[in-house]
Amino acid sequence: MTQTIEQFSQLQLRDEILAALREVGYETPSPIQAACIPPLLAGYDVLGEAQTGTGKTAAFALPILHKVDLAQRSPQALVLTPTRELSLQVAEAFQRYACHLPGFHVLPVYGGQSMSVQLRQLKRGAHVIVGTPGRIMDHIERESLDLSALRTLVLDEADEMLRMGFIDDVQWILEHTPDLRQTVLFSATMPDAIRRVALQHQQEPLEIRIEAPTTTVSTIRQRFCQINNAHKLDALTRILETEENFDAAIVFVRTKTATVELAGKLEARGHSVGALNGDMTQQLRERVIEQLKNGDIDVVVATDVAARGLDVARISHVINYDIPYDTEAYVHRIGRTGRAGREGEAILFITAREQRMLRVIERATGQKMEALSLPSPQAVADRRVAQFCQHVQETLASEDLDFFLEVVTTLEQNTDADLYEVAAALAFLAQRERPLRYESQVPDMPPPRAPRGFLREDRFPREDRPPRRERPPRPRTEELYDFDENVPFVRYRIEVGHIHRIRPKDIVGAIANETGIGSRYIGQINLYEDYSTVELPPELPPEALQILATQTRIRQQPIQLRRLGDDEFVPPPRRFGKPRRRREHE
Ligand code: AMP
Repeated sequence: MTQTIEQFSQLQLRDEILAALREVGYETPSPIQAACIPPLLAGYDVLGEAQTGTGKTAAFALPILHKVDLAQRSPQALVLTPTRELSLQVAEAFQRYACHLPGFHVLPVYGGQSMSVQLRQLKRGAHVIVGTPGRIMDHIERESLDLSALRTLVLDEADEMLRMGFIDDVQWILEHTPDLRQTVLFSATMPDAIRRVALQHQQEPLEIRIEAPTTTVSTIRQRFCQINNAHKLDALTRILETEENFDAAIVFVRTKTATVELAGKLEARGHSVGALNGDMTQQLRERVIEQLKNGDIDVVVATDVAARGLDVARISHVINYDIPYDTEAYVHRIGRTGRAGREGEAILFITAREQRMLRVIERATGQKMEALSLPSPQAVADRRVAQFCQHVQETLASEDLDFFLEVVTTLEQNTDADLYEVAAALAFLAQRERPLRYESQVPDMPPPRAPRGFLREDRFPREDRPPRRERPPRPRTEELYDFDENVPFVRYRIEVGHIHRIRPKDIVGAIANETGIGSRYIGQINLYEDYSTVELPPELPPEALQILATQTRIRQQPIQLRRLGDDEFVPPPRRFGKPRRRREHE
């Protein structure tokens, strides 16, 4: 491939896919996409070394979708992932990119989901299956998964599958799928065991690895903040309002749509902000840059492409709101600060799943990143109060207030209030747009955690590995309560999630053991980064509720169970298949 790929339109993808990519707001292919898509379209096997966050899902999904025969409803591609959450995410990604492919169907298949539901869904047929190894093995054994038309097999996060003890299952699956298929293997690291799988099951694979030379950026202090996507806006607000030496910031996001959305949200929170993306005309872009230079705006939300070459000396902070695809993009981004010999600050938001990228960046820049402790809501409030007081003092010093003195005097005479109370009421009115008492939407933000090291096979003693078969045995405990089977479940939230390395069976075990609620009364469980949701009966006995809210811990973490409000938004994982029972607020 000698041609450099800068646009999705250069990749020979069908129009329906290009239209979907435009709609999701992707501007350019990420390096791993530019490198992998052409050989995958040409039918080569690919061995890709790529972390989460590089865009690897689209790198394999787009060629599969390009080649899919919609008329044939038996599985043409099988994607194996280590966890059920990843299966759901990958399936959602397929669905998103296929929104203009009529009749396209992707089916996630994972352990813990009802077998009979899965059997029915498989019977109905799907073009792509995404699943965890244990359950896929079950279906191959039962002959409920017809792989005769399979053309592509993807092993996603192969080193994770190895770490979790699934590699024998993966080998078994590879041995039970048609030989004449394309095999794609993505892994964040390449331990020998993964290389052996590649050697055995791939045909002259193209090895793809995006490398960047080490670059020094010594005048820039680099910090990271581990955070999940839902909390990023809150974290950004806190940082923008409390950072010392703040002058102006550039906030990097991944998509054009995100530049506009985030700029709007920051504006609503009282910041002077502009968006910069590849859809804007040159003239518009120049205007935003000019506004940033002369101080009309202090924050610009940009994509990588739009911020290329941006040189504004007053940018004191670069915030990587969404992680860059690779170290080269990272170095380029943070180079927007620390200009003209000044010092700069770079802050990287990183989700639990993206942690590996941190090490990769550290290696590429030769610098260690500091963990950033998010400023508390109180610190934000203190800052706002200080600014407010300063504003009042400046107004007292510079404005002619005679007319307003009369208004206040009349007010005092006509009410029972004294002047302090009148002043307090006016302060209240003045702060309504930007409340002095900062209320975080995320009351208990987790403290930053040190990143995990590289996950090497030998770092995990055998007994720490999860059991090979995925479906956790549901604990048998003494059941203390009977609930009405006809009353639908409702959702509760608990403050433990992926970063605490929990599994659904830990949640079932904790609830059942600590309260005596039978496991049959525990419904759908969804794990998120630092919290989870679990369905339970609506009328939990007060003593059980109290135990779960205040005393129960999983892996040393208090779970602090509470019922989710009817209008409380919880992002996907989207539910596929039928829920076990209909929820009250659906
Ligand atoms: P992945 O590494 O596949 O988990 O992707 C990480 C994130 O990057 C996902 O949120 C994708 O939606 C997003 N993404 C993937 N490719 C692109 C692209 N070319 N432009 C912008 N965002 C992308």
